[in-house]
This record gives sequence, structure tokens and C-alpha cells, in this order.
Amino acid sequence: MGTRLTPEQADFVAAVRDFAKRECGTREQRGRDPHNADIYGRLAALGWLGVCLPEEYGGAGGGLADACLFLEETSYGMVPAGGFITTVITAKAYERFGTERQKAEVLTGAARGAVLAIAMSEPAAGSDVGALSCRARQGPDGDWLIDGQKTWISNAHVADSILLVARTGEAKHAGLTMFHVPAGTPGMQIRGIETMGGREVNDVFLSGVRLPADAVVGEVDNGWRQLMAGLNHERLFLAANMLGLARRAFDDAVAYVREREQFGRPVGSFQALRHRIADLATEIECTRLLVREVAADCDAQPDRLFPREASMAKLKATETAKRAALEGMQMMGGYGYATEYDMERHLRAAVVSTVYGGTSEIQRDVIGKSYGL
Ligand SMILES: Cc1cc2nc3c(=O)[nH]c(=O)nc-3n(C[C@H](O)[C@H](O)[C@H](O)COP(=O)(O)OP(=O)(O)OC[C@H]3O[C@@H](n4cnc5c(N)ncnc54)[C@H](O)[C@@H]3O)c2cc1C
Repeated sequence: MGTRLTPEQADFVAAVRDFAKRECGTREQRGRDPHNADIYGRLAALGWLGVCLPEEYGGAGGGLADACLFLEETSYGMVPAGGFITTVITAKAYERFGTERQKAEVLTGAARGAVLAIAMSEPAAGSDVGALSCRARQGPDGDWLIDGQKTWISNAHVADSILLVARTGEAKHAGLTMFHVPAGTPGMQIRGIETMGGREVNDVFLSGVRLPADAVVGEVDNGWRQLMAGLNHERLFLAANMLGLARRAFDDAVAYVREREQFGRPVGSFQALRHRIADLATEIECTRLLVREVAADCDAQPDRLFPREASMAKLKATETAKRAALEGMQMMGGYGYATEYDMERHLRAAVVSTVYGGTSEIQRDVIGKSYGL
């Protein structure tokens, strides 16, 4: 894709933009929750949720770049499709490592509107996710028994299934395995965590959860390598999502400072604000170029992982979104703080993006290590 869109991509972006304006343009249409099942169903009916899934499973067969455009535009348009990000990240793991039966069920479902979640983090295993202790033991009948707790699991409460990473061996990284856990599996309990972002994350408790032998996704004890193989996609998708939010926060701020007058002139005409707008515009443009370029690289060379570049995209986009929302709030004065405007919502969404999917500190570490440090 590079930084220029193909005519098909431009049409796709225009269609998503139009949908967002028409169907999600007001707060009444969007509702309060980050995920609105009704609107998500409409996106599925348009065939957009399978944007980068293979055609044989009901997807549109597009690339990562197409998925990034969809994420950017839905985020810009404030479309309450919060389930999509974990779905597309998780679906890619099934696409790479799932059995034919798993792919037929999970990928086809995702293209039709099913939500997927991924459960790695635990109370004592955050940035050091390889230290996770949720246990899976295989019984003599071949079934797996799972016990442990996961935390911060986005969209688990609306997911049709959860891709669970559990410990099957003693070696820190070489003892992890991925499991397919359908919603409602006996022994699994999901409890919402209250946050400033509304209903989005959950604790997941697993007590004597029994899974059949064929619930393993990929290979036993190979879960870490499988996770690593998808990290570039995850980071890129999160970056695209935050690029959309940064653009939206910026546009909302510009619209406000053009209108709001103090001392007899629009506040945006004061140099203090005008320069801030110029700096933000430049940062956002750099982010856009980086995200598009990394997406194009990943599509062009699907066997390469691009860890440095994907971490750069995630770091840059999330930090830029946070800055855009914070500065937007400052430039709107007291009104940026009021729930009457969307800026406080942008800030709440942006502020945590530098934590999930690997914190900014961890992204910097990955980038630094890629220079042999
Ligand atoms: C809204 C939200 C959604 C999430 N969704 C999911 C999900 O769907 N699935 C899932 O599995 N997890 C999810 N997570 C968990 C997320 O990935 C972790 O929160 C994140 O990896 C950080 O872990 P932690 O919160 O335990 O912080 P810690 O790891 O305890 O970090 C605390 C601080 O120490 C810093 N730090 C830690 N290690 C280092 C280091 N080596 N070098 C420098 N600094 C370091 C961190 O950057 C951070 O500032 C989500 C989290 C949030 C908040």
C-alpha cells in the first residue's frame, strides 16, 4: 500500500467513513459501551469484519493494510466496535496455527460477527507475560484440566470464545500452550473490572475447566513462539486504532479553537495554540506515514516479523494519540473536561493505549534491543 491508497482502498475508506457518520454520528446512536452488538452486526452484514480474513472462511481476503484502514476509520468515526481489535488479533493466531476444523469454526464466525478474546495476562504476569502460571494438565483420557486466573481480558464478556495461553511445562517460555475455550465452558467465570474506560476488561477465573485434547491451538509447549509470531500484527493493529483516535482528537480540537472566541478573536488564532496545532498535525502525519509503511512491509513480506518497526508504530501512534487528546483538552479549556464534548472520552481511550499490548517502556526496550543493546 505504501502511503498512497489504491482506488479500492480509497472507496473502502469512504464507505466506512460514510457508515460512521450515518449510523454512529450521534451519542444516541453510539450508546455508552465501547462495543455495541447491534452496530457490530451491521458491520458484519457489510462484510467488513472479515476484511483481512481468507475468502475460504467468509473473509474479504484483504491484507493487514486493509485491516489497519478499517481500524483507523472506525476509531476516527467513534464506531462502537470495540470487539473488533481483539477479534482480528486472535483470528490471525487461528489462521496461522489452528486446525482446519478450528479455522472453519472460528474464522468463519469472526467474519460473521463473532467476537474473540485473547487471555495471556495474569495478576502476577503483566509485562513479564512468560511468567504466567495458569495451569493446564492433560489427564489419561487426553482431556485438559485448567486452573488459574487471567486478568485485564478485553471483550471476554462479549466473546464467543477465548484463546487462552496456559502453562503446560516448566520451562518459562517453552512451556506455554494456546487453547480454544468456547464461551460458557463450565468452570470459567468472567467478572468485569471497573475502569475509567467503561465496560471493556475482565478477570477470567478458571477452576477445573475441562477441554478436549483437540482444544489445543497449534502445538503443545509452543505457545510462546506462536505468540511472538503474531506480535507484529497485534502492535500494528493497535497503532492503526490509535492513529484514528489521534486524528479525531485533533480534528475536534481544531474545530473548537476555530469557533471559541476570547479577547475578541478565535482562541486558535493565538500563536500559543496555533503552534501546538501545527506540531500535533506534524506528529500525526509522521504517525500515519509510519503505520502505513509498516503495514505495507508486513503485507509484502508475510514471513518477516518486523519487530522493531511494529514496536515503533505502536509506540509512536499510542503516544501521539495520548498527546493529541491531552493537548486537545488543554486547548478546549474547561469544556474539554466536560462530558458534553468527546475530548474527555478520547483522553480516557488514549491514556491506556500506552499500557496494553506491551507498554511504551517495553516497546522502547524491543526497539533498543534490535540495535544490539
Ligand atoms: C485496558 C486494558 C486492556 C487489556 N487487554 C488485554 C487482553 O485483552 N489480553 C491480555 O492478555 N492482556 C490485556 N491487558 C494487559 C496488558 O497487556 C498489561 O496490562 C500490560 O502488559 C502491562 O502489564 P501490567 O499492567 O501488569 O504492568 P507491569 O508489567 O506491572 O508494569 C508496571 C510498570 O513497570 C514498567 N515495566 C515493567 N517491566 C519493565 C521493563 N522490563 N523495563 C522497563 N519498564 C518495565 C511498565 O512499563 C509499567 O510502567 C490489558 C490491559 C489493559 C489496561
